[in-house]
Amino acid sequence: MELEKALLRKVGEAIGRFKMIRDGDRVAVALSGGKDSLSLLEALLLLEKRAPVEFSVCAFTIEQGKFLRPLDPLAEYLKKKEVAWTCYRDTPSLRLIAEQPGHGCDLCSRYRRRAVYEVARGLGSNVIAFGHTADDFCEALLRNALFTGKLSALPPVAHSRDKEFRLIRPLVFVDEDLTRRFAEYLGAPLTPCGCSQRTGTVRATLRGLFASLERQYPYLKENMLAAMGNLEPGRLLDTRFLDLDGKGGAEPG
Ligand code: SF4
Repeated sequence: MELEKALLRKVGEAIGRFKMIRDGDRVAVALSGGKDSLSLLEALLLLEKRAPVEFSVCAFTIEQGKFLRPLDPLAEYLKKKEVAWTCYRDTPSLRLIAEQPGHGCDLCSRYRRRAVYEVARGLGSNVIAFGHTADDFCEALLRNALFTGKLSALPPVAHSRDKEFRLIRPLVFVDEDLTRRFAEYLGAPLTPCGCSQRTGTVRATLRGLFASLERQYPYLKENMLAAMGNLEPGRLLDTRFLDLDGKGGAEPG
């Protein structure tokens, strides 16, 4: 099936290039209830059977009180697929909503990260897989450049502070048009989160900008992803990477 092949090719490329999964890994997929993480889960389940390295896959969801629908259809779907799934109601997050309803993303993500590590530890996993897509990487690059004064996006592979977990983002080369179509093909039940419907955020503005530019330049995201892997630090303004004393040879052409 074409969609599945395209997804597996891109996920396989990311896993190979960034050495995301190794022999004996126990991978826990963070399911947010959306199309991206469900596509990621399916891709890893397929690769678990076919990849030359041996690894196992399970899934978990952190319930922070933001889902707009019950998670029962997701539970049913995963049960049918025989996926080991843990749904974790995070009491501190629920208390946060009750006590500070206007809290921002920083606080929410901090609470989520703590809960994610707690669950993954309980599951005996050493790798946590997140469903960030090519769209997220491109948005993060633009957002950081335009609003935080940093040229950075997201790490495809990182480690928790004490190296307990490898954190991987195997959908780095997969765009959301593909995950949308793939989740539809799977018949996966999507559970929207209240925040996904917010408009007027920087994220929504950048998404709109991308969508309108992509109508004219369809390879925009591919080019941005290629740029992230092809730095020319000598042509930027960070003095740590500039040859200020002329000791490093000729100026880049
Ligand atoms: S968008 Fe919503 S769920 Fe996501 S980090 Fe921000 S507050 Fe939390």
